[in-house]
Order: sequence, then C-alpha cells, then structure tokens
Amino acid sequence: MFNTNTNQQNKKQQTIFKPEKHHIHTPKEEQLLNQTQKIINQAKKEGRKALLETEAKTICAEYGIPVTKFMLAKNEKEAVIQADQIGYPIVLKIVSPDIIHKSDAGGVIVNLKTAADVAAGYKKIIENATKYKADAKIVGVLVSEMAPQSTEVIVGAVKDPQFGQTVMFGLGGIFVELLKDVNFRVAPLTADDAKEMIMQLKAYPLLNGYRNTTPADIDALVAILCNTSHLIMDYPEIKELDLNPIMAYSKGAKTVDARIILE
Ligand code: ADP
Ligand code: MG
Repeated sequence: MFNTNTNQQNKKQQTIFKPEKHHIHTPKEEQLLNQTQKIINQAKKEGRKALLETEAKTICAEYGIPVTKFMLAKNEKEAVIQADQIGYPIVLKIVSPDIIHKSDAGGVIVNLKTAADVAAGYKKIIENATKYKADAKIVGVLVSEMAPQSTEVIVGAVKDPQFGQTVMFGLGGIFVELLKDVNFRVAPLTADDAKEMIMQLKAYPLLNGYRNTTPADIDALVAILCNTSHLIMDYPEIKELDLNPIMAYSKGAKTVDARIILE
C-alpha cells in the first residue's frame, strides 16, 4: 500500500498536496527525493505496471510538477471529511489497478458542491466501477480539488526503442487527437528545448493570448517539461507517462490527471 504521509503533517489520513511554486530541482534537492523510489519498488513487488493516479501524482508532486490537491477515501464518511478539508467544488475518481481509463468506467464525477453530493457520488462511483468490471480491485476513491477550466495542454513521455526517453508536448483534445499538433524531444531537455517545444506548436497562439484570451504562463509549462524530463531520466523503468490534461493558467498550471506505466 502506498503512503503519502509526510513528517510535517502527520495527520490520520493522507497529506493534501499543496504543490510548491514550480521550479526545477537542484541536485541537492534531488538527494532528498524518496517517495518515487518507494512507489516504484512497491508496484514492482506487486507486479503492477500501471501506477495508480494517487501514486503518479505523488511522484509528480515530488518532482515539482504541480497537481490538484487530493486525498484517498476508503468510505463515504472519509470522502466527506476530506472534501471539507480540500474545499468545494470537489471531483471524485475511482482508484483501481484494474481501471486505467476512469471516465470509460463512469469513474469520474466533477463539480460536486455539497457533502450530500460527495456521499452520493462516492456510492455512485463504486457502483459504476463494479458494473464496469465485477472483479475490479478497488483501492478507494480519490477526493480532489476541482481545477478551474482553462486551456488544456498535455505532457507525455515515451521510451523510444531507438532514442530512449522522449518528452512530448501538445494542446489538449482535438489538437492532439485530430490535428497531431505535438512536438517531441529526446530527454534530457534544457529549458530552451522545452520553450521551443511549446513555441513551435501550430496552436501556440492559443497559449499566447490569441484574440481575447489571457496568455498562459509559459515558464510554468517549461518547468513541467523540464521536471518531467528529470523524472524519466532518473527512472529509466518509466515506459510511458501521460499528464492529460494539464490546465494552463495565466499564473501557474495544474495537472488534473497523471498516468505512469512501468516497463
Ligand atoms: P481518465 O482520463 O482516466 O478518464 P481524468 O482524470 O482525466 O480521467 O478525468 C476525465 C476528465 O474529467 C478530465 O479530462 C477533466 O476534463 C475532468 N477532470 C478530472 N479531474 C478534474 C479536476 N480535478 N478538476 C477539473 N476537471 C477534472
Ligand atoms: Mg485523463
């Protein structure tokens, strides 16, 4: 079982992650990292290739990649207490090693506004998961801060058989799926590489204040790309990484969903 407790906040339940201001890790800070190794070891021990969202987000947070605040609830009552601590509106998501695409399983409910909504939502998610896959192992339900809607971007990583660890950047939705407007670079990335990956997208104007939209915080996205590069260079056993979506704001950015697949 994973553990997201830290020394400072040794509460009964999991720690709420409040991502620090984005930055690129120094080598000294890196020596302090340890959750990532523990999580990967545990998954290997259990023979799991796909990390849970809780695990992937814990790793992201450790690498300075901002994620939505979250806690893991094991029952309705816990979910309500956690929702209260995190603050409304709330998003609930299924946490199961047997359910990779959560929305396909009716495993994501957004915009819950009251304790009663959260309690009912918890029940519904467990019900949907069981309907989707009767023997799915259910770890619990992720209780998460709801990230305000914004321009959605995607950061990915794949291990190319020829080039090794590779980072991908694109805009969410049709830009990736339909228009294939994405850029790849072989890791490790410099900040200049990351900036280029962003600015050379055809859809870049959408991040740069096209018409009336506020420009996105490009430095925050550069930091996410560099920290992702850092992570996959440190852990060559990461075969795939998918931060999809990331909400790009005029100040900062927030990863809403994270998937990591091991070799
Ligand atoms: P999956 O990709 O496994 O189906 P996601 O976690 O990506 O599940 O959730 C599906 C969609 O729900 C996301 O693409 C996003 O639009 C929305 N969503 C999920 N979590 C949040 C959140 N914390 N805040 C805002 N929107 C969210
Ligand atoms: Mg997703």
